[in-house]
Amino acid sequence: MGLEMRKRCEKCSENVEHEAYICVHECTFCLDCTTKMFNICPNCNGELVRRPKPKGTCPIAPPEGVFMMGNR
Ligand SMILES: [Zn+2]
Ligand SMILES: [Zn+2]
Repeated sequence: MGLEMRKRCEKCSENVEHEAYICVHECTFCLDCTTKMFNICPNCNGELVRRPKPKGTCPIAPPEGVFMMGNR
């Protein structure tokens, strides 16, 4: 099992590319279902947390070793 990016809610098949909630086992749900389930995964009773977006980097805290623009 790798970091497979699921794009559909497991409950209602809604597209969750923009905002997904996952548990530690990467069960994936949309915000609507997550709210209704009180942030608890129905499969494993784990906590559902918001999945970070795969694209884009944090402009405030770049990770170490990252290319720094304008920093010579
Ligand atoms: Zn859903
Ligand atoms: Zn789960």
